[in-house]
Amino acid sequence: MPAANPEPSAQMPSVVRVAVAAPVGELLDYLRPASGNVSPGMRVLVPLGRGQRVGMIAAVNQPTDLPSARLKRIATVLDPTPLLTPADLSFLLWASEYYRGDPGEALFGALPARLRRAQPLLDDRPLGWRVRAGAVAEPPDLRRAPRQGAVLALLTAAPQGLTDAAVRTALGDCSGPLRALAARGLVERCRLDAPAAAAVTQLPQPEPPPSLNEHQADAEAVVAASQGFGCFLLDGVTGSGKTEVYLRLIARVLDAGRQVLVLVPEIGLTPQLRKRFARRVPAPMAVLHSGLADTDRERAWRAAAGGEARLLLGTRSAVFTPLPQLGLVIVDEEHDLSLKQQEGFRYSARDLAVRRAQQAGCPVVLGSATPALETLHNARNGRYRHLRLPERAGRAVDPEILLADIRAQPLETGLSHALLTRMEREIDAGNQVLLFLNRRGFSPVLTCHDCGWVSECTRCDARMTLHRGRAILVCHHCGLEHRQPVQCPYCASPDLRPLGQGTERVEDTLRQRFPGLPLARIDRDSTRRRGELERLLTAAARGEHRILLGTQMLAKGHHLPGVTLVGILDLDHGLYGSDFRATERMAQLLVQVAGRAGRAERPGTVLLQTRHPQHPMLQLLLRDGYGAFATAALAEREEANLPPFSHQAMLRADSPKEQAALDFLLQALAAARPLAPQDVEFWGPAPAQMERRAGRIRAQLLLQAPTRALLQGVLAPLLPALRALKAPRELRWSVDVDPQES
Ligand code: ADP
Ligand code: ZN
Ligand code: ZN
Repeated sequence: MPAANPEPSAQMPSVVRVAVAAPVGELLDYLRPASGNVSPGMRVLVPLGRGQRVGMIAAVNQPTDLPSARLKRIATVLDPTPLLTPADLSFLLWASEYYRGDPGEALFGALPARLRRAQPLLDDRPLGWRVRAGAVAEPPDLRRAPRQGAVLALLTAAPQGLTDAAVRTALGDCSGPLRALAARGLVERCRLDAPAAAAVTQLPQPEPPPSLNEHQADAEAVVAASQGFGCFLLDGVTGSGKTEVYLRLIARVLDAGRQVLVLVPEIGLTPQLRKRFARRVPAPMAVLHSGLADTDRERAWRAAAGGEARLLLGTRSAVFTPLPQLGLVIVDEEHDLSLKQQEGFRYSARDLAVRRAQQAGCPVVLGSATPALETLHNARNGRYRHLRLPERAGRAVDPEILLADIRAQPLETGLSHALLTRMEREIDAGNQVLLFLNRRGFSPVLTCHDCGWVSECTRCDARMTLHRGRAILVCHHCGLEHRQPVQCPYCASPDLRPLGQGTERVEDTLRQRFPGLPLARIDRDSTRRRGELERLLTAAARGEHRILLGTQMLAKGHHLPGVTLVGILDLDHGLYGSDFRATERMAQLLVQVAGRAGRAERPGTVLLQTRHPQHPMLQLLLRDGYGAFATAALAEREEANLPPFSHQAMLRADSPKEQAALDFLLQALAAARPLAPQDVEFWGPAPAQMERRAGRIRAQLLLQAPTRALLQGVLAPLLPALRALKAPRELRWSVDVDPQES
């Protein structure tokens, strides 16, 4: 008998440990329900405070310290069988512990929306009618109701039941007689077993794969040969054929009868990738992302959990989906920030993917053209196996990157003469041009030429962006909107001027400069409608637009074979950003955007406009590539003792009241210091980067430790202490382990 499951004894009441869907910070103990079976992974209703909450059984037959008088009983068991396996539970609870989240929040966050409430698992089986068990033992006298008699005879001949449609086909509309028979207790409504509706897609004729080049074949062979858990970094330049390697590995694992999990950063990436997978993967596949309706998410979740879907393609939260026969995990674009959940239960889907593979005893492949420095560090110190694809696949060649020094140059809405000349040349030659500017809207500020007023947000320490198309000022940090003023709110001057440019303004200029030329702007504003991003990208890939202008939405993973020139309008803020990750992000973005150029046979050029052409990191990146840049950046991190050479957790607090957040974090610091050994450092508490946001004053306290274990050693006792602190009602606080943003 395992020690964790002692038999209940007479002296000690045995309790059930429940993760309650409420922010209680820990698992709670309850007595078994008055009747019925309980197993880990079943949902229950439990009394909490004055009401009832949904909970998930995490363990049964547990000893407790609570006096039996204080123990309450589970009110209802919601599921006849467990929704989650012990392995799923242990993974989710591990995640909630590592990220210091609330176990209930972590467990229920991983479930489809309806299952977070007390609703039963969606039943897609068709409705029908059947004879009630035992009802026909004494055949009723139906001579005066011949239609009822006919229906009853029909159903008696089909004891498993018939669908409404089948009854109608046999006897015409029988709803009246069926109701009458049901009222007499002779027949009943039922669900009929039929194959579950398709959350799962599979095309009948998979496309044949191209033969792998030497680098691809080597990389594939290394992963394929691995036994059990192993972590692989597939470090391949854009277009080097990483996806082809994934597809080969997937085919192998599916052949071996196991399931595959593929994580991608964003929904914008999934349409193209989904189609490519659907054409190639010879097995049922399910897709999970936040753009799906709740019922579709639940169907996909259930198909994965039930083993019907052999491959699950999803965004970050898909990492929590049960996959009982998991045999391979792939994280594409592993450096991408959207794999990090930044709100509520904060986690890194990439790091959890590694843990998940470890638990399942299978390989995990992290792929990127610009690996995160953390990942490269793990590859270089041997924890991950480093696989390289140094060349573009097929016949494509690397793009040439040129710097355009724009100091003291006249600019036309941010476009230099050098860029415009090259654009004209490519457009005349019938090619596509991609322009990248990571700022949406018309201009980031509106200002009064007479008195100097600027369009500041009243709720944030930030400026409001002019969106001239909709004639509004919008705060991109809190969403506040105002009508575009016609005169200065301060001095009433009509001379208001937009300062700087966003994509909307560049679009205006380009439409004047290239009248009639098909142009697509791709940013969050232009793709608000469902399906619009997919439509624009498909059209762009077919070459319908001659100019593509967009934010980082356009930089990611898309295959745009007609693009021969990429113009990057402005990345300078990344060179001198205040976040220590700013240069890493800048380099990744630059390489990713550049990777859109010349993906097919036509060679590509990238033109980067900058006022800092001599910046050493930029020089290094352009001359020697991302790997060399990363080496230098890692050396800087080591020098400064920053991640990945140390480990951090960020405590954040905010409140509408001045000082409240700082006060809370001061208490947190006082609670933390005695728990922390010498070499754990504290930075702050200090005001956040943007101190006021959406009317709340924000502060933060950073904990930094030389090892994860030391950091966790402080957090484990600290979090319960923080929950016990008397914080004012309006104060909110959170913890972020391995934060990605300051
Ligand atoms: P990545 O995922 O690294 O960006 P992809 O797998 O998407 O690269 O490959 C880029 C392009 O090269 C695609 O059009 C793909 O079909 C093609 N390709 C990949 N591998 C090969 C190969 N071995 N032979 C021919 N074409 C290939
Ligand atoms: Zn004014
Ligand atoms: Zn605001």
